[in-house]
Amino acid sequence: MTRVGVLAFQGDVREHLATLSEVGVTGVPVKTLAELQSVDGLILPGGESTTIAKLSRIFGLFDPIKDAIAAGLPTFGTCAGLILLADKILDGIEGQETFGGLDVVVRRNAFGHQTESFEIDLEFRGIEGAPLTAAFIRAPIIESLGDSAEALATLPDGRVVAVRQRNILGISFHPEVTDESRVHELFVREFIG
Ligand code: GLN
Repeated sequence: MTRVGVLAFQGDVREHLATLSEVGVTGVPVKTLAELQSVDGLILPGGESTTIAKLSRIFGLFDPIKDAIAAGLPTFGTCAGLILLADKILDGIEGQETFGGLDVVVRRNAFGHQTESFEIDLEFRGIEGAPLTAAFIRAPIIESLGDSAEALATLPDGRVVAVRQRNILGISFHPEVTDESRVHELFVREFIG
């Protein structure tokens, strides 16, 4: 059975584990190297990217995760998870680290205070049927993409909120909080296989 890890230091780990069981794979909370090495793919949850990066360092997983992603581990990041996958971030804190792998520039907290959280229906390349209900919670935006990164979803104003590149899928929003399992399904089907 396919095992998908959820990096479990901070953030909406439980929601991802629940969505994984909906799509019929085994979700594994990952906090140790042995757990990381036991999974076929990895989810970086929403939460606080600075905290997740720091705790990954403290618990000795930062470099192993970075190396595993670079070596091709299928990896899916939502919101803070997208920030952690970006090669370059804007409005990070001083010295904020990312695992990288996505050739994109991501701006943290891109929607400011007025509209910190909202839901909107989106079309998503590769997902058939009704539009996705996407929840944006202090969400980042993908400001620019390199040639090898492909945009999968945009807001009505054209800003990019989902991207894929090689073994990596990154999205600004949280399908795991709106009962939307089709992005997880796509990750399992197309990235893990
Ligand atoms: N603003 C958060 C950060 O910078 C991300 C918010 C989220 O994951 N919902 O990490």
